[in-house]
Amino acid sequence: MCGIVGYIGAQQAAPLLLEGLARLEHRGYDSAGVAVLGTGLKTSKRAGRVRDLGEQLPKRFTGRAGIGHTRWATHGPANDVNAHPHTDGKGEVAIVHNGIFDNASALRARLADDGVDLVSDTDSEVLAHLVARSEAPTLEGKVADALSAIEGTYGVAVLHADFPGRIVVARNGSPLIIGVGEKEMHVASDLAALVRYTTTVAHLEDGEMATVTATGFTTFRQDLSTTDRRATTLDIDPAAYEAGVHESFMRKEILEQPDSARAMLRGRLDERFGSAHLGGLNLDARELRAIRRVKILGCGSAYYVGEMGASLIEELARVPADAEPASEFRYRNPIIEPDTLYVAVSQSGETVDTLLAVQEVRRKGGRVVGLVNVVGSAIARECDGGIYLHAGPEVAVASTKALTNMFLGFALVALQLGRVRDLSIADGRRLIGGLERLPAQIGEVLAVEEELREVAHRLAAAESLFFVGRVRGFPVAREGAQKFKEVSYRHAEAYPTSELKHGPLALIEESVPTVAVVPDDELTDRNVAALHEIAARRGPLVVVTHPGVDLGDVAATRIDVPRNERELDPILLTIPLQLLAYHAAEHLGLDIDKPRNLAKSVTVE
Ligand code: GLU
Repeated sequence: MCGIVGYIGAQQAAPLLLEGLARLEHRGYDSAGVAVLGTGLKTSKRAGRVRDLGEQLPKRFTGRAGIGHTRWATHGPANDVNAHPHTDGKGEVAIVHNGIFDNASALRARLADDGVDLVSDTDSEVLAHLVARSEAPTLEGKVADALSAIEGTYGVAVLHADFPGRIVVARNGSPLIIGVGEKEMHVASDLAALVRYTTTVAHLEDGEMATVTATGFTTFRQDLSTTDRRATTLDIDPAAYEAGVHESFMRKEILEQPDSARAMLRGRLDERFGSAHLGGLNLDARELRAIRRVKILGCGSAYYVGEMGASLIEELARVPADAEPASEFRYRNPIIEPDTLYVAVSQSGETVDTLLAVQEVRRKGGRVVGLVNVVGSAIARECDGGIYLHAGPEVAVASTKALTNMFLGFALVALQLGRVRDLSIADGRRLIGGLERLPAQIGEVLAVEEELREVAHRLAAAESLFFVGRVRGFPVAREGAQKFKEVSYRHAEAYPTSELKHGPLALIEESVPTVAVVPDDELTDRNVAALHEIAARRGPLVVVTHPGVDLGDVAATRIDVPRNERELDPILLTIPLQLLAYHAAEHLGLDIDKPRNLAKSVTVE
């Protein structure tokens, strides 16, 4: 969500800034802008796409230092004036900001009283004026001064016409990364914008600032005392950030799942003891045994996969477990129990609601571990321990491969928790066998993509649809509906199959299809009975099920997925739902990787 880029070096900044912003587009945004510092400071910004911004840039938009921004509006509508960069009245200072200044209205009022003309509705603009008004002798001092008056979350980058040759950046709650190039330096809020130029990077910590020049960077705290942050070279493949031959990142990432699932499991299965190796949890057997409850915290798809994880943990370890949206948890003064294990789930590791939930747990003395994809991200750093998802970069907003690996992460936690309790070694090995078969079975589901494409086209024609499942199948239905609505903009509602007759059956008719999750388990008969009720009301049915499940004489389009161990089935049942969402959106001609109003990592509250 929202992005920052910056460049300083021997080249013209504007084309590089636009290229960097294009690479952040997948995060979701509503307007974009750039500022360059050459002979004077120039700014150009507008609502709409980065492409449109590129087309409107004046001819001589030159300068070898610059900053850029994609905005996700929190204060004021998405229009040209509210787009960043924001400048002071004289046009000497330009700033970009990700996050929210909580005390912006008080600061705006104070500035207005002092005669400052605020031109935008944003919280961010105050920073430009505060920097301009500071009497500190250096740009670092001015920015620090300004930030000391500000409460809230931010990643910021600042240019000042009186201080050429430098960009000053600061972080508090929104990621800020410095990339070290050959006689040039880059700044970005996300690695995706940098990897094309360099993989040698430094991540700022909260409360840290930096001066970036063409030849290097120095870091310091807001009181200007120095810190010694160094750049490290990451072992990442820049090609992983390119869609390559694929028409979209979402499809590429769906198809990568057999490989990314293997990467997740590599070295973590302990055949001998029928358990899992998860050193990163930092919990020994005695501590694992002392856990009386597991509470899973995530947002969006991470919350739904958390529900799948909770049922895995209850089934395998017989430890009470539940999932809750992190965005709700943190606001209800939660009771933190010392013998509860809290698990925070986030692809990006920067989801602010989840991060703040982690901080709430830790403040109250609870123990929290992370299931996170992005190494070194804020949540990964804040937790007491954790498991990296090894899914590789996930660029599409709608999560697919990271979500699958979250499920596998829960399976590994459940196995380890189970094996220090009552799960037998034979059952442990049974599950390990299932996990080992999973990547190839995901491949089998992906192989029937052509058939699913046709089903998806039919579903795309409906304005409204239901996704239903029960017990293990219900979070699958929730995630299926989530994915469908995210990328196809159709109204897709998930319901427990058992609850249909307590309400939504009233809506079932010929134009309202239902996607039903019907695994081969102890509830199959009950599920099939519900299918009859839907069919009797002429509701079209798509049933995701296992080979051999008898659906009776119900007229339904059937999607069979391979059977695994019943505890692990939910993830295989989820895979065709990803493809249904994808092909529905493609059929509707939508921008699949960048769904409207959504962002990849939600770094504002
Ligand atoms: N709060 C700022 C605004 O509404 C920045 C939002 C963002 O992170 O893009 O302009």
